[in-house]
Amino acid sequence: MPKSVARVLFPVSVPEPFDYLAPAGTPVRIGDFVYAPIGKQVKLGVVWGFGETDPDRDLKSIAERKSCRPLSPEMLKFVDFTAKYNCAPLGMVLRMVIRSYKALDPSPMVDFYTPKGDRPAGLTPARQRVLDLADVWPGRASDIAKAAGVSPGVISGMAKAGLLTRTHAPLDPPFVQPRPAHDGRAFELTSGQNQAVLSLSKLVEETGFNAALLDGVTGSGKTEVYLEAAAKALEHGGQVLILVPEIALTQAGMRRITERFGAEPAQWHSAMGDAARRRVWREVATGRAKLVVGARSALYLPYTDLQLIVVDEEHDSSYKQEEGVIYNARDMAVVRASLSGASIVLASATPSLESLTNARTGRYAHVILPERPGAAIMPEVGLVDLKEHVPEKGRFLSQPLIDGVSQALEQGDQAMLYLNRRGYAPLIICRACGERLKSPDTDSWLVEHKRTGRAICHHTGYSMPMPKACPACKTDGSLSPVGPGVERVAEEAAILFPDKTIEILSSDTAGNPERIRERMAKMAAGEIDIMVGTQMVVKGHNFPHLTFVGVVDGDLGLAGGDLRAGERTYQTLVQVAGRAGRAEKPGRALIQTHLPEHEALVALANGDREAFIKAELGMREMLGLPPFGKLAAVIISGPDAPKANEFAQKFLKLAPRVGIDGGDIEIMGPSEAPIAILRGRHRRRFLIRADRNINLPAYMRTWQGRIRVPSKFKLQIDIDPQGFM
Ligand code: ADP
Repeated sequence: MPKSVARVLFPVSVPEPFDYLAPAGTPVRIGDFVYAPIGKQVKLGVVWGFGETDPDRDLKSIAERKSCRPLSPEMLKFVDFTAKYNCAPLGMVLRMVIRSYKALDPSPMVDFYTPKGDRPAGLTPARQRVLDLADVWPGRASDIAKAAGVSPGVISGMAKAGLLTRTHAPLDPPFVQPRPAHDGRAFELTSGQNQAVLSLSKLVEETGFNAALLDGVTGSGKTEVYLEAAAKALEHGGQVLILVPEIALTQAGMRRITERFGAEPAQWHSAMGDAARRRVWREVATGRAKLVVGARSALYLPYTDLQLIVVDEEHDSSYKQEEGVIYNARDMAVVRASLSGASIVLASATPSLESLTNARTGRYAHVILPERPGAAIMPEVGLVDLKEHVPEKGRFLSQPLIDGVSQALEQGDQAMLYLNRRGYAPLIICRACGERLKSPDTDSWLVEHKRTGRAICHHTGYSMPMPKACPACKTDGSLSPVGPGVERVAEEAAILFPDKTIEILSSDTAGNPERIRERMAKMAAGEIDIMVGTQMVVKGHNFPHLTFVGVVDGDLGLAGGDLRAGERTYQTLVQVAGRAGRAEKPGRALIQTHLPEHEALVALANGDREAFIKAELGMREMLGLPPFGKLAAVIISGPDAPKANEFAQKFLKLAPRVGIDGGDIEIMGPSEAPIAILRGRHRRRFLIRADRNINLPAYMRTWQGRIRVPSKFKLQIDIDPQGFM
């Protein structure tokens, strides 16, 4: 008779579950967390299914079942789908789900202390110090003792003496429940917003999966609209997930959510500490946390009753995870919603062409907010032809940009200069011998950072002190910066506007999320005159006194072999320009360019999104690119160039001949990746284009299955690539 087995998946790089005998006595269910022996260890895994095997096969038994709630069948399906679609090992996707082992157990109960009654006279200095503490209450004995610089014995002594109250409570408290009926908004929704709310609420109330694109110009108040949809889902007792591109930057957004629901949402992002992670995971898994705001990885939390997912700024490229399991959280969110029978709202002022096409063909509802509320109007956008308005030698701001900044400052407003380049100068060159400073193990130039006095590789983080002499010809003082970074633009602005407050905002100058938030708040409060910023500044911030935005290099991003360059440039520039004129003051944006005839820029200047979309879609259709066709990339890396070439050629020969469903597949490459060497590894790329009727992930899996990858090589598959480096 065949033997029954439980199939257990471990959160490691394995493609499938392993067979075990189910433990005698405790039955296990699908989705249960169990400990089982693997090699010499006992590891945590998840029961993925049951099956039968040969009676003579020697099998080990599951050692222990955790008593927590099992993962839901839809979660298991979601993990399976993610792995299959993205050609990733199943176990690695499970690893994205299990983010805290401690969260599988209930929160430990601990003692908390708070001061009690009036302070009696004659206290010892130690006891006084404890009562003088301001913000540790209610706290644990060890934390209070540490803050006051006393021994923990002092705390228990004070409790006994009736100076402190002791309460026994969970270490990780549940979240305060959001209240859908709470209304902390200071204004009325516009009729356009109300209509949009109505459309979305209807979708949320319908049973089963549905999707909507919330398509509204920058500053049109999309957040308020999707929060009302969230309120509907919460009213029905469901869980709501709001995905945001960069959580560190959404403090203002977080405040609005907290005000709307009278409670702070659970927050999730990759930089969280263990305690916060454990708490959120557990509360989501038990269904008690109803409202989660998170970065892309929040999609893999074990929701029990997900009713709505919102993907804010759905076009944003940070939804794509480029390392480990390569996936696009926006696309996977649609899958998650469909598996859960939930609604999904994709929100953006500049929707991706994929989502826009889905909305226009009726797969998604199309909910449009055409204008800003109240007196706020869209900024006027102009182009500055750099061939005509040449900046002074060694400078980067043309006269029209300088005038724009002056005008805003004269009116007592603020200005922003945008350049998506960190550091001082993107290239360091020797005037004596022409040497360019290069990263030692990577194919990229070193970027000068004046503030830290270092030369940095932006691809690997390698850095060294800025040399005084050229490393090649040894000439002293011959190294000079080429091109602008934000530090250099800020330096130029300081020369032009010497008595103004100028601040830089980029991921490295601002340092940590706390400092980024501080600067954002300073900007919003009008304490900064000119903000010079990278990508960081474009995401959904409201600066009421900002009336002029100058884009230093509108061409950055248009060049190169990136298929989405036009789309991304257009999106970024619309978002940047959209920072201006958010409140009652009209705003203006000027974009410096060498390509004033480029269709993305012309469309931008004319405020004619339709023209841009039409041109871009036309080009995509002609070339069979998304959304009219499908793309995948393969990145192969090896220890040296000949070996990488050889392995790439071998892989090419193994390509399946025909598309699984018929239809056309084109394989381009292998060719050297634009960054041909990264951390000493030689990289080759393929780009695969397929007709729309082809199941490209299935094709790629078949291809991948035909090769064994020796350990000195790495082969990555990227479905629907967003980056091409
Ligand atoms: P979007 O996400 O569409 O760019 P936001 O939701 O950030 O826009 O809203 C832009 C600004 O307009 C915010 O400061 C918001 O508080 C404000 N706002 C939104 N709706 C209204 C309204 N009905 N009346 C007044 N101000 C509003």
